[in-house]
Amino acid sequence: MARPAFLTGQPHGLLIGGQWAPALSGETISSHNPATGEHLADFARGAAGDIDRAVAAARAAFESGPWPRFSPSERQALLLRLADLVAREAEQFATLDTLDMGSPIRHTRGSVAMLTDLLRYYAGMARGIEGLTAAPSMPDMFACTVKEPVGVCGAIIPWNGPLWASVLKLGPVLATGCTLVLKPAEDASLAPLLLGQLALEAGVPAGVFNVVTGLGAEAGAALAAHPGVDKLAFTGSDATGRAIMAAAAGTLKRLSLELGGKSPNIVFADADLAKAAQMAAIAAFANSGQICSAGTRLFVERSVASDFAAEVARHASALKLGNGLDPEIDLGPLVSARQLARVSGYMDEARAEGAGAVCGGARAEEGDLAKGFFFPPTVLSGATDQMRAVREEIFGPILAVLPFDHEDEVIQRANATPFGLGAGLWTGNVGRAHRLARRLRAGSVWVNCYNAIDPAMPSGGIKASGQGREYGKAHLEEHLETKSLWIATD
Ligand code: NAD
Repeated sequence: MARPAFLTGQPHGLLIGGQWAPALSGETISSHNPATGEHLADFARGAAGDIDRAVAAARAAFESGPWPRFSPSERQALLLRLADLVAREAEQFATLDTLDMGSPIRHTRGSVAMLTDLLRYYAGMARGIEGLTAAPSMPDMFACTVKEPVGVCGAIIPWNGPLWASVLKLGPVLATGCTLVLKPAEDASLAPLLLGQLALEAGVPAGVFNVVTGLGAEAGAALAAHPGVDKLAFTGSDATGRAIMAAAAGTLKRLSLELGGKSPNIVFADADLAKAAQMAAIAAFANSGQICSAGTRLFVERSVASDFAAEVARHASALKLGNGLDPEIDLGPLVSARQLARVSGYMDEARAEGAGAVCGGARAEEGDLAKGFFFPPTVLSGATDQMRAVREEIFGPILAVLPFDHEDEVIQRANATPFGLGAGLWTGNVGRAHRLARRLRAGSVWVNCYNAIDPAMPSGGIKASGQGREYGKAHLEEHLETKSLWIATD
């Protein structure tokens, strides 16, 4: 497969005010392919001073220049042009994400197709921003609400879907007339930089979209605490989410958080068990388990639990592990040595506490796999709700099978987690589906499916999984202020 053109055009600077520039410190960070260890590119290590410059550029673009005068139809046209450019560069984006964080090319190609659709959705939404006309009881008064862009937005994103998270942050910003400073994850920053290039080509005015690569503790922390940022969107772990909330508190900026999960996937004996088993493996192992809503606690009605676990393990073992550039591959490596150590640590601890592995269970090192950070899909047996591997987000391909006996019991156990991102429910009984879906404490509940997603459907977490919603009208509202306008008519 050809090396993406983007990787040959070194060096990769920061995008600030429509210009590419090195970090003030002149320092860089190296990116490596987690499947092979190969060096991919160097990019700028931005820090507090660079964030200051980017926020100033975003403020200037928000308040003056052409951007505040863009009409909704002009913002729509811009988003449609950007969508076309992302589609033009689809193969390059897919390859970059696969090289940078390991995800299989089949998966990253599918993501790019969904993301061009998402940009087109936001393009449509740019035309649908509406206030309301109220009917105040005072006779000589006209009153209405006007929706206005919230202002300068900051976004800090994780590495598990670099293009995905960037588009999800940029789309509503452009639709509403805000401006953005994006801080990608240090483990996967290349696709967001290419998106920056295409935004300029699409005609996004200077300063509207700024990209500052760098470390979380440096560039990320500076963005979270910056008084010039009106709204911050963070996607990442709950631990970092807490630090960001504390850093943002001093400025009282608007905050949305898309955090981690430990999502339950509940299977009743009356479900289509063949389909449920196949989907349970995908729910837990897609992207090597590095998905926030991965269904990692698999509750199965006891009468069918051991056969069902064996069937899930059969599907898991059939998933092909390898370098994601191979189109036959189902699962790539974990993103980094740190992530591999984390996943292995949880596995060792679960084993020490008495759990066994029906399949997987240790780093995969056969042949070329030894060059990368590969961990096979792992189904735990003998796990209990109290084990750390069952309570905490691992963000790797480890699934615990947990038998249950009754509806009330399984709902209580499924909800007994600090998280509340997603939940799956498999049953052939429509009454039970409605009854239990309402009792599950999660931002999304999927019945007889898992991880369904659509631009029009809001997605987000409750409890320690976050606050705010992405996708859908709710996502646009996060970027809008409501102004009440009163006009005395005499
Ligand atoms: P992370 O929290 O370690 O890092 C996320 C981002 O925060 C990175 O850009 C990082 O540089 C930055 N960061 C780190 N420390 C910071 C600090 N002190 N101040 C400001 N920024 C800081 O998460 P990760 O390991 O990159 O991603 C995995 C996590 O993301 C998982 O918990 C996963 O569930 C979550 N996630 C959630 C969603 C969702 O929509 N809910 C989607 C994808 C990933």
